[in-house]
Amino acid sequence: MTTSAKSIVINKDDQGYHANYTDFPVESIHQHNVNIDVDYSTLNYKDALAITGAGPVVRQFPMIPGIDLAGTVSESDSDEFKTGDTVLLNGFGVGEKYLGGLSEKASMKSDWLIPLPANLTPKQAMQIGTAGYTAMLSIIALEKHGISPQTGEVLVTGANGGVGSFAIYLLNKLGFDVVATTGRMNESEHLQKLGAKRVLSRDEFSTAGKPLAKEQFAAAIDSVGSHTLANVCASINYGGVVTACGLAQGMDFPATVAPFILRGISLIGIDSVMRPKADRIEAWQRLSELVEPEYLDTISREIPLSDAISHADALLKGEIRGRVVVNCK
Ligand code: NDP
Repeated sequence: MTTSAKSIVINKDDQGYHANYTDFPVESIHQHNVNIDVDYSTLNYKDALAITGAGPVVRQFPMIPGIDLAGTVSESDSDEFKTGDTVLLNGFGVGEKYLGGLSEKASMKSDWLIPLPANLTPKQAMQIGTAGYTAMLSIIALEKHGISPQTGEVLVTGANGGVGSFAIYLLNKLGFDVVATTGRMNESEHLQKLGAKRVLSRDEFSTAGKPLAKEQFAAAIDSVGSHTLANVCASINYGGVVTACGLAQGMDFPATVAPFILRGISLIGIDSVMRPKADRIEAWQRLSELVEPEYLDTISREIPLSDAISHADALLKGEIRGRVVVNCK
């Protein structure tokens, strides 16, 4: 019986705030009804903030960071999951309030877990990660509000970001005409290869605009917030739909009600963290059908668990392009 698990462990004590790659007692990890041998986790922006202490992410110490994981059930008290099942977790405060995925072992409430879709490996699920899952939730929201490839162009903001680039890729696979906005126009060719028909500078959207602008897009997926979200809403066609999941530009929303009351547009909030299980299963099933493994290999790199701390620093300094998948085996 293994008594300790190699883990990234964050502490706040007399020596200050520090993260180490070390052994952590398995009995302290095994606190919920499904115990898991972690195959892969990822290094998200939130995990990098937690590891470095650059942002107030961790709410309890000691903490194992890692907001998502894919692994194999080693022990279960749940009717839903049995030993040997492969499972997937995103969110629910894991890696912030509850011990997370950057460890050889984890323990989760069965309510938080979903089965890994049959045609995805644990590594592929983590290559998709929370960014791809949030992009898929946003697209499903547009579809449920009547948006289809026939409705017209869909705008994606924050195009080079994790959510934005997955949104472009997935929308294109589904047959939509996609327009991207970015602050990195030098990446236009890459965005076009990903599936954007046109690429616009984010400067067109990022400063205070008019309550109503020219109607240009049937729908939009925004991960940026602030003036960008306000201007996007002002540019949506009559009856169109916008999803909002992020705040890369800012948390504010300096808009007017004009697009809502004069053009009948809808703004839909997207949360991935506390999402009900049925929605998670639907989004991951769709992802498993749409995403090609070759694409995932072009947007991610694999590191061992022992390298997670050094990569957290590099990630915050903007030195890493693409997703970081952490091998925890
Ligand atoms: P990334 O950091 O990968 O991407 C954000 C992108 O936004 C950047 O690549 C950049 O794109 C653009 N951007 C950055 N700063 C600005 C700015 N000042 N003005 C306009 N655009 C800017 O983040 P993710 O894609 O992973 O996440 C995007 C947002 O969504 C974040 O705020 C994140 O917290 C949130 N999020 C929310 C979730 C939820 O459950 N609601 C789940 C996942 C993420 P470019 O260079 O192309 O301009």
